[in-house]
Amino acid sequence: MTDQVKYLLDESELPTHWYNIVADLPERPPRPLHPRTHQPMTAREMTSLSAIGLLEQDGSTQRYIEIPSVVRDIYRLWRPTPLFRARALERLLDTPARIYYKYEGVSPTGSHKVNTAVPQVFYNKAAGIERLTTETGAGQWGAALAFACAQFGVGCEVWWTGSSYDQKPYRKVLMEAFGATVHRSPSAVTETGRRAQADGNTRGSIGLAVSEAVEVALADPAVGYALGSTAGHVLLHQTVIGEEALKQFALADDYPDVLISCVGGGSSMGGLAFPFLREKLTGGRDIRALAVEPTACPALTRGRYAWDHGDSQGLTPLMKMYTVGHAFVPEAIHAGGLRYHGMSPLISYAYHTGLIEAVAKSQRECFTAGVRFAAAEGILPAPESNHAVAACLDEAERCRETGAAKTILLLVTGHAHFDLSAYQSFRDGTLTDAELPDERLRTFLDQLPAVSA
Ligand SMILES: *Cc1c(COP(=O)(O)O)cnc(C)c1O
Repeated sequence: MTDQVKYLLDESELPTHWYNIVADLPERPPRPLHPRTHQPMTAREMTSLSAIGLLEQDGSTQRYIEIPSVVRDIYRLWRPTPLFRARALERLLDTPARIYYKYEGVSPTGSHKVNTAVPQVFYNKAAGIERLTTETGAGQWGAALAFACAQFGVGCEVWWTGSSYDQKPYRKVLMEAFGATVHRSPSAVTETGRRAQADGNTRGSIGLAVSEAVEVALADPAVGYALGSTAGHVLLHQTVIGEEALKQFALADDYPDVLISCVGGGSSMGGLAFPFLREKLTGGRDIRALAVEPTACPALTRGRYAWDHGDSQGLTPLMKMYTVGHAFVPEAIHAGGLRYHGMSPLISYAYHTGLIEAVAKSQRECFTAGVRFAAAEGILPAPESNHAVAACLDEAERCRETGAAKTILLLVTGHAHFDLSAYQSFRDGTLTDAELPDERLRTFLDQLPAVSA
């Protein structure tokens, strides 16, 4: 039986500023390069894709950036989100560890993605953009952007990775209910999509869906492109998660020894970890930050820290990041939000310099952990979140063996109410774990662009 404790913040404690970790890093992480000339991107070149307000945030070295009041008003629909002490889970695991989880599934679309969708639409609308295009992996980002576009009366067009589109039909209904147009990627409406279809690519990948959305946005100045993870401004917007968690730990009179989040592009990890890393970087308490990725798409643990494109066709700027190569097409795992070949440059830099650690988990282990968590806590985590849950169970088990009463902070990025087909495959025993042999990985790493910068 659960006797969970909840740490709730009052609406008045909703953060007023986002935190920019660049201000506290010892040096500035490498900035993007032009995809063909390999020279630093100019502001003018960047505005063909992103709104100026967001580009200013990407380039900013200011420590705090004020959250516009319109954005805060919309955040109030679901923020501040709760922090729970998972007592039932602790008992189930018979661990001396204290486990807390921050739950982002209370948002209008069921994940943390809306934290950045709302400000992105706000800044695009301010720049005169009438319609936004985007890609989506699991459908979470597409749904979040569709919601935010509906709030501001901006059009929304989504290219959705084919393999996930087929797995989660109800999330399409949600996107369409918010007024968005949804394409299965590869689609017949872009040059990129038609070429991929002709090549016999049916499953698609996030990188390919990015290429389709970017192609359409580049063709029309009234159309902008929004991205759901990896960019500096996305991680910036997500820091409301960590800022709230810091206040909630003060209420609990406790402090995490380790924090854990899954990583696809790294936005939830950055959002949770950066405010805690600020404390560490500015002389406050130490903390371990653990990023958990799928073994099917192991950018941090088996990829290379190199210059690479954000999309499969090489249309986006080059970013210095951990990557398994932009041509990589991962297995159709159910954690669609973690099937991205690259990683946020900020998370990549933090990992490269030892500020965060990483581990990879297979999907069956993750679903096993997810159902244990659900039985104890009454929340069915999204397949992506299960990766963090699995790593949390490992930490708790280690505490049981050593008797160490550590404090663990787990981020549950979303719920699985639109991902039940994944849990069904898990129960049916049809969920598989494919190996990723070194030779296969190497064929993609060998295709990384040669940059002499
Ligand atoms: C998109 C998504 C992720 C992965 O993206 P990050 O940018 O790494 O946070 C994780 N969990 C859920 C529920 C998602 O929708």
